[in-house]
Amino acid sequence: MTTSPTIDLRSDTVTRPTDAMRAAMAAAPVGDDQYGEDPTCNQLQARIAEMLGKEAALWLPSGTMANQVALRVLTRPGDEVIVSRECHAGWHETGGSAANAGVQLVEIGSGGVFTAAELEAAIKPRSLPVYAPSTLVEIENTHNRSGGIVFPQDEVVRICALARRHGLASFLDGARLWNASIASGVPEAELAAPFDLVAVSFSKGLGAPGGSALAGSKELIAAANRHRRMLGGAMRQVGILAAAATFGLDHHRERLAEDHANARLLAEALADCPGVTLELSSVQTNIVIFHLAAGALDANTLVARARERGVLVNAFSARTVRAVTHLDVSREQAERGAEILRELLG
Ligand SMILES: *Cc1c(COP(=O)(O)O)cnc(C)c1O
Repeated sequence: MTTSPTIDLRSDTVTRPTDAMRAAMAAAPVGDDQYGEDPTCNQLQARIAEMLGKEAALWLPSGTMANQVALRVLTRPGDEVIVSRECHAGWHETGGSAANAGVQLVEIGSGGVFTAAELEAAIKPRSLPVYAPSTLVEIENTHNRSGGIVFPQDEVVRICALARRHGLASFLDGARLWNASIASGVPEAELAAPFDLVAVSFSKGLGAPGGSALAGSKELIAAANRHRRMLGGAMRQVGILAAAATFGLDHHRERLAEDHANARLLAEALADCPGVTLELSSVQTNIVIFHLAAGALDANTLVARARERGVLVNAFSARTVRAVTHLDVSREQAERGAEILRELLG
């Protein structure tokens, strides 16, 4: 049994709002957001539009809804969306892309990234009516299931230019765009510039209890507003949550570098454990993914044994484990977590 507090490395979503964040939420002026009268939400939306270099932005309750609304805005049922392998929209949204937008997803590339050439090869010809129209390309930056890697921006620029030439729209799932920006030193606006529509999340590294946003042209955001309502995601005194997002932007964005350093520490400690395959070059932000060889513990066994020792991690598949650093994991906890996992891995 553990005597020290749990070290929760399951996800950067497990953070609880700090006292200061709660105070900001309690003090936020609010109004009915469906009448456009929530001043705190309006202020956040304006700030996000500005930060991402777009005309307008829209608050949404979750990143999943932001992704689903984006798909509905940019496609029609039966269309094909070209995505990275193991993208969130295909793997972690419980089939929503098919159910809500009626699209089929085509995964290309490897390790969470792909090239403009791979996109070009995947676009279905428009010459015959047998093909599903490829109408959207989606990039995930950072890429969750590939270990939080940052999508190379020069390739992003080439991909979005090619998409435009072929009449495809472009969407950035930037739930962790803050991490991509801190890790690469490239401002969010530059990372977002090539895309028609961009999603960001406030409930991951920034530590808010909920909320995401979409940013794009006024026209696309007006369409997104309608789909948000249709999916039941239009809320009322949203300022309480928008205040948490604003607080996170003000106080928890720069510190993401600490999470990245802690993930690095963890990864370096695990990389040479027997039976562990861990691509150190993929550990660029706050996510550590490693694979367990046949003969070593399997993922569920490691997860269970780590839990007994007060360390929580997630099994991503039978032999793949994910650990994530965040606001509620200190340097000392990252070191202690690494030590315990090393012991368990022998
Ligand atoms: C977490 C996540 C989302 C969805 O966010 P929720 O708020 O959990 O619905 C979307 N995309 C990526 C890449 C994510 O990691």
